Amino acid sequence: MECYREIRVVGRGSFGAVHLCERRSDGQQVVVKRVSISQMTDSELEASCTEVRVLSMVQHPLVVRYLDSVVQDEALHIVMEYLPGGTLRDFLRARDGRLLPQQDVVTWASQLVLALYHIHSLNVLHRDITSSNILLTANHRCLKIGDFGISKILASKSRAQTLVGTPCYLSPELCDGRDYGRESDIWATGVVIYEMLALRRPFEAPTLASLVMQILRARVPPVSATHYDSTVHDLITIMLHREPKSRPSARQLLAHPALIAAVHAAPVTCFHCSEASYV
Ligand code: ATP
Repeated sequence: MECYREIRVVGRGSFGAVHLCERRSDGQQVVVKRVSISQMTDSELEASCTEVRVLSMVQHPLVVRYLDSVVQDEALHIVMEYLPGGTLRDFLRARDGRLLPQQDVVTWASQLVLALYHIHSLNVLHRDITSSNILLTANHRCLKIGDFGISKILASKSRAQTLVGTPCYLSPELCDGRDYGRESDIWATGVVIYEMLALRRPFEAPTLASLVMQILRARVPPVSATHYDSTVHDLITIMLHREPKSRPSARQLLAHPALIAAVHAAPVTCFHCSEASYV
């Protein structure tokens, strides 16, 4: 890791600290996720290796870019693109109840769907889409999906069957013990878009049991009718459809009336944002 100079800790995950570093060769700021492998169980080690494998496969302007990985001192060091704008979750919390303009939500929602379309077209499920795993560029104009810690490359026939994900983003089919598929990523993305609109998640409860009951039975609380038009309401309704087969694919979402204009503008927005050197 002598190629990198440590600057400071930018966050902590369940596997360890995330450091902001400078790459000595060109001064580029990068993030290094240091994952200790000394006390890892086999499945934890497998999860980390999966993250590296999947990250290196996925190269897209709206997905956090994987740069390198190094095993040294009983640790796996994963070097990634640095996103200085923090997590979407922290950004939404800091709004303190002030709703976002529809255009901002639509811009981010279209970026999310474009990233998901790319991931799914590689036959990869993200499996942990949450507002904490979405990072923002410094000017907040672009978001990028990260943290493929529990992604799984879809085998041609088999489908992932482990119950994974942050509870508030669990889809009804997962609560029901059914398989994880692309539709479950669409549901989780719908929860994130809802969160951008309402500044809260559609289903929140003090216990896992009551949360699961809500996800399976409760009506999605409507988002503000004065701030957001009917296309946005429709977008949420179809993404959070209880029946997975009734949810649109990422490809279908790209043509949704709420998103279509922003989808066409998205690459321009990204390539012209101040972090253009990263994309
Ligand atoms: P888990 O390890 O359970 O997945 P997590 O997603 O919070 O939890 P990490 O992905 O390790 O854990 O990230 C921890 C924190 O580090 C994030 O909340 C974020 O603040 C920061 N972080 C992670 N990746 C980046 C990045 N590429 N750029 C900037 N900050 C980052």
